Amino acid sequence: MPTQLVDKYGRIHDYLRISVTDRCNLRCVYCMPEEGMTFEPDHRILRYEEITEVVKALAPLGVRKLRITGGEPLVRKGLDRLIAMLSAIPGIEDIALSTNGIYLAAFAPALKEAGLTRVNISLDSLVPERYARITGGGDVSKVLKGLQASRLAGFHPIKLNVVLMKGVNDDEVESFLRMTLEQPIHIRFIEYMPVGYEGAGWKAGYMPLTHVLETCERLGLPYTATREVYGNGPAESYRLEGAAGTFGLIHPVSDHFCGSCNRLRLTADGNIKPCLYWADEYQVRKHIGDPAAIAALFMKALDAKPETHEMARALSGERMSHAPTLRRMSQIGG
Ligand code: SAM
Ligand code: SF4
Repeated sequence: MPTQLVDKYGRIHDYLRISVTDRCNLRCVYCMPEEGMTFEPDHRILRYEEITEVVKALAPLGVRKLRITGGEPLVRKGLDRLIAMLSAIPGIEDIALSTNGIYLAAFAPALKEAGLTRVNISLDSLVPERYARITGGGDVSKVLKGLQASRLAGFHPIKLNVVLMKGVNDDEVESFLRMTLEQPIHIRFIEYMPVGYEGAGWKAGYMPLTHVLETCERLGLPYTATREVYGNGPAESYRLEGAAGTFGLIHPVSDHFCGSCNRLRLTADGNIKPCLYWADEYQVRKHIGDPAAIAALFMKALDAKPETHEMARALSGERMSHAPTLRRMSQIGG
């Protein structure tokens, strides 16, 4: 039995993203359609004990870092119980959470206590009406309270994820950058990805992240590259002169980082996804109770992992080498 999850391109996989639900209390325009979504019935969602068993099978193969995601993970009851179960597994060093932050103020202390190490909060606008429009009715003041509560609970670094969309929030880059002057947070600008669909809405909203550094230059805000941001991500990071926090650019479409991909994904309904973009999946549930079979299935998934995704081809309309996933982002976990 190998001791590491290495694919045929030599990429070592030590990071598992675990989606705990496909449900959400918001409906972000780029993630989930307002209507027409069907959700998995409860009996098809992996139980916390089953998720823990999967991670126990992978820790001996070098999986060290976990991210809990969704849907919105905090809509699932007792998430702190899962965090406590996962943090007790020998070898697991880092457990991060991706959340929209709406319920975070209530849960941050219990999650910290259970062993959660970091939080990423998604926040695409600081303007209340616009935030509500992007998220299908969300209240931005709750997210800001969640951010504050996370800081008080002692999470560090706290990262804010901002999906940049042309004509939607591209005029707020300055406001987000200025947040880093005062607050020790890391703002990650993320390119809008054509995952699950690549309709006219995506093409109209997509913009490359060169816009962020151009904004710094236009405003005369000096910045330098920095390597000090802790995490698993592929962001290239910068600090504005004199700033308490930092900002990063994640550009999966315009300049992919597949060569250094270290991640695997487990969907809420128990499918291993070796790549975010492609349709390829492997159902793990039938192997629960057999750690060797779970590990073998992950190896099989890894063996089939393509060298790269081809999201950029969705822009140009070129033919793809594999079939893209039909899952929406909320059904994968980002
Ligand atoms: N509900 C949680 C949240 O919003 O953080 C976790 C799940 S969400 C699917 C994970 C991340 O995916 C969020 O940061 C979200 O902004 C991002 N995301 C969703 N759809 C996206 C898209 N089409 N392009 C880029 N990022 C996307
Ligand atoms: Fe929900 Fe997160 Fe998707 Fe927004 S991005 S709809 S908060 S899962």
